[in-house]
Amino acid sequence: MRLLRTLLPYLLLAVVLAVFPLVAPVSVVNVGVYVLIFTIAAVGLSLLMGLAGQVSLGHAAFFAVGAYTQAILVTRYDWNLFLALPVAILLAMLLALVVGLPMLRLRGHFLALATLGLGIIVTIVVRELEFTGGTSGIYGIPKPDFGGRVYNTPAEYFWLLTPVVLLAIALGNKLKNSRIGRALGAVNDSEVAAECLGVDTFRLRVKVFVLAAGFAGLAGAFYAHWLAVVSPEASNFPLSVSFLLMVVLGGLGTIWGAFTGAVLVEALDEGMRALIPQIIPGASGEVQLLGFGLVLVLVVILVPGGLAQLWNGLVRRVRGEREDPGADESETPAALGAELDDLLAQASPPPAGSAVLSVQGLTKRYGGVTALKALDLEVRAGEIVALIGPNGAGKTTAFNIITGVMPPTEGSVHISGQDVTGKRPNAVAALGATRTFQNLQTFTSTTVRGNVMVARHLRTKAGLLAGMLGLDTGEERRTAREVDGVLTATGLQQHADRPITALSFGQQRQVEVARALALAPTLLLLDEPMAGLSGAERDHLSLMLRRVREAGLSVLLVEHDVAAVMALADRIYVLDDGVLIAEGDPASIRANPAVIAAYLGTGEDDDQLVRSAAVQVEHSDGGDQ
Ligand code: ATP
Repeated sequence: MRLLRTLLPYLLLAVVLAVFPLVAPVSVVNVGVYVLIFTIAAVGLSLLMGLAGQVSLGHAAFFAVGAYTQAILVTRYDWNLFLALPVAILLAMLLALVVGLPMLRLRGHFLALATLGLGIIVTIVVRELEFTGGTSGIYGIPKPDFGGRVYNTPAEYFWLLTPVVLLAIALGNKLKNSRIGRALGAVNDSEVAAECLGVDTFRLRVKVFVLAAGFAGLAGAFYAHWLAVVSPEASNFPLSVSFLLMVVLGGLGTIWGAFTGAVLVEALDEGMRALIPQIIPGASGEVQLLGFGLVLVLVVILVPGGLAQLWNGLVRRVRGEREDPGADESETPAALGAELDDLLAQASPPPAGSAVLSVQGLTKRYGGVTALKALDLEVRAGEIVALIGPNGAGKTTAFNIITGVMPPTEGSVHISGQDVTGKRPNAVAALGATRTFQNLQTFTSTTVRGNVMVARHLRTKAGLLAGMLGLDTGEERRTAREVDGVLTATGLQQHADRPITALSFGQQRQVEVARALALAPTLLLLDEPMAGLSGAERDHLSLMLRRVREAGLSVLLVEHDVAAVMALADRIYVLDDGVLIAEGDPASIRANPAVIAAYLGTGEDDDQLVRSAAVQVEHSDGGDQ
């Protein structure tokens, strides 16, 4: 049943595409051929832009490399179509790899500008080189001819392209819902959180950039055969804009949108060519670009989710569904069961008492501000250690350096004996240390379950190809089961399928904790995990952290709730103005005059706070198990 539901849209599209050339006039089928060719390229761009959030203004450059390679191999070297095709795809991918390695270190607008530059460079190169036919390009590319058929009419070529387009959409969809697709989406939502869960964002970006170029190269090769001529126009800016418009109009993040976007853009293209000269007499050249620009601006302002947003809204309205399915209140948050133990057993902590985290002489200066001065800190296996201090004391800075989010000015960080000073967060996560964030860093484009799934990245293997070809079903099923276990253990099961943005601030914080736990870390760094939680939720979290400690794992906790810290921590470090002013067990910290003066205070209210912390400690000593 599920398989049928997955296959149904493909079957429907296959039927529509098969019938279309029989009922439409030849001139329309001819436009349809371009729609199918451009859809293939747009699927690649959709993966790059919609999933990985990388804007490319030079997608046509790879399209042109595919087209030129195919044209040259077929016309000059008499290569067979099918022999030339993989070379065309591979050369487009090779160019993407070579330019992607330096370019993908750029972000946002800079990357868009760099890809724009790439498009211009490729246009100039193919125009100036004699080998590529100069301004007139390469002529005489034959129509494909195999299996006793010549694909020389729009209808024949349309039918030839149909399975290729269906396959491209299927591969894109498969990838989107795979381990790599989830990681890409996560990088797009919060790069820092994805990296702290072990995602190597740079490698992933390069991979998807290269893959997107492969789709463009394939489309370019088919374009060359259909047009019979390839000229520098194949790499120029207007074509890159058309690809961009297809993806945005269809809906960023949806692969089906590549097809609907291509249909719309080609229809617009035809319409604008006829309409604009009537509105602006004498307008000539690429007049349709005026209309494209206008449509792009309107879509971004009015329906940023493109056609997919309109379609999803319509489907929901017809079915009478709400955007947030709400929590299934019949499910009560489970007590900490075997699921948590199973999860924690996956971590491989060092022997009890040995150092999991060792920080030495850590200093961080931001210009004139010294946020952290020569901090020494150690967390041993099976310990909960707290880092406390007034606002601006340097706690988050310490977290950021330990987890590789920023490098220190001086000092070193070792995790399980390995030097990770200045390493990227994904390298730190690979050693078993992950974190939550003071300012929420959830993956907002997905559900609660989707957030936690990303945390299994390091515990799973399926790569880009395996995901795209659907060779990951066993692993995916196992991951889904394990994530269900994590959600049950953390009391979030009833929210599993809700969009994360529909949850309260406190609930989102709990998802961050669940997500960090799902990695089965040896060291869990929690930045103010109690903020926004109700009393019951705080108790649940405390219980969970004790269970983590019992499993021999370690926790480093930044928390303003002094009572909770006193009740939970084995040892406490106190920072004030970037300087470590005390370290010891809760009792000694509570009695430390320097700590009382700097943080706990000596006022009546604060005395009460300290007393309440003491009461909590006594209470927890007895009721802990
Ligand atoms: P809080 O409890 O309010 O979160 P904190 O103990 O986590 O505070 P940090 O956020 O580490 O403190 O900040 C320590 C000091 O460093 C503060 O004086 C802060 O203003 C400064 N600081 C932090 N980040 C930066 C930055 N990116 N640039 C300049 N100064 C910074």
